[in-house]
Amino acid sequence: MKRRDLIKYLSVTPVAGAALAGDITSLHAAPQSLAGAPKKDYFSELGVRTFINAAGTYTAMTATLMRPATLDAIKYASGKFCMLDDLQDKVGERIAQITHAEAAVVTSGAFAALTLGMAGILTGKDPAKVKALPKLEGTGMKTEVICQKAHAIGYNQALTNCGVKIVMIETVEELEKAINPNTAAMHFLHVQSDSGKIQHEQWVAIGKKYGIPTTIDIAADVPPVENLWKFNDMGFDFVAISGGKALRGPQSAGILMGKKDIISAARLSMPPRGETIGRGMKVNKEEILGMMVALEEFVAIDHAAEYKVFQQRIDRIKAAVETVPGITTKVSHPVLGNVTPTLNITWDKTAIKKDGNDMRAQLRQGTPSIEVVGGKDNLSVTAWSLQEGEDKIVAAKLKELLVWASA
Ligand SMILES: *Cc1c(COP(=O)(O)O)cnc(C)c1O
Repeated sequence: MKRRDLIKYLSVTPVAGAALAGDITSLHAAPQSLAGAPKKDYFSELGVRTFINAAGTYTAMTATLMRPATLDAIKYASGKFCMLDDLQDKVGERIAQITHAEAAVVTSGAFAALTLGMAGILTGKDPAKVKALPKLEGTGMKTEVICQKAHAIGYNQALTNCGVKIVMIETVEELEKAINPNTAAMHFLHVQSDSGKIQHEQWVAIGKKYGIPTTIDIAADVPPVENLWKFNDMGFDFVAISGGKALRGPQSAGILMGKKDIISAARLSMPPRGETIGRGMKVNKEEILGMMVALEEFVAIDHAAEYKVFQQRIDRIKAAVETVPGITTKVSHPVLGNVTPTLNITWDKTAIKKDGNDMRAQLRQGTPSIEVVGGKDNLSVTAWSLQEGEDKIVAAKLKELLVWASA
């Protein structure tokens, strides 16, 4: 699909009439029917709730909807056989070219990319080490990964799954003191870079000074589109990103990109090779090709125009809910991670007795069901997972909800 056509797909309303008439079924069917998906309504037959996603790209909510060209690529791949490694080789070259990396491979997500990249650093090309993971003792493999305290999140489990332990530091002085012959890597978390004391360039420079590979998790960090190549250009040894967030690729896909030696070593721990730590982190031709096409589509779209569409949807929702007495709204524009206009709704608790959890439950039980996020004291809404026309529905339903909560 050409850039122009993509924008048209995003901004034109083929089913707006149906949406306004409240025909939610046809609204949800729209992107699928574009790709020629089956007519059977499996989720409704199974009794699985579907909903309008005004929350965002959450794994629990099945993350994102793929673009038509990606769905076409998946359907194409599902009808032909090829050798798994041949496809990873060729797709990897294409992805590496786009992202300015020496090499790349499609993984089953950013988490898997972190585990497999870590495995590559630890094992190199040694088959005995590949088989030994996650056992490091007595193998000659290094055992420690250094990370800033502000960057220590649950996803670091992806690294510790390889048997390493995380050593936490805060300052450059602590970092240099922590580096020792057991240091396997220095790991960085982009989304929390503003709360750490050491920034990207300095992290990479210190890594180079001591000959320690530097790694970075940018799972949810596009847009901006430049982040796809920024950290490869900067010299990180590997970069991990999710396929199923803003890239709108398969949810069970991600990309590991970086230095050739690390990527080819990581692949020794990946299917089709068994007796490896990564044998269960399988991606097949459908995800591999789908990931490549999703990336190409993402790079081709007009991001400024897309952001404007999201902004317009959020403005519409904001305008509707702030007519309810006691409601305060604020639109923020995150600069690190999940970069999309985000509407925060709070309320005067003397006037409105229901809390955020009550409200989300009510919204979920409505027709159509709607998901937003937030805590006890707020609702948080994004528009990037909405289908055309759904902003109108969300605006009306949220207003109705807040009136109900005020009663
Ligand atoms: C989402 C996320 C992950 C996991 O990514 P998957 O693609 O779901 O495996 C890892 N790290 C961060 C910071 C994330 O936001």
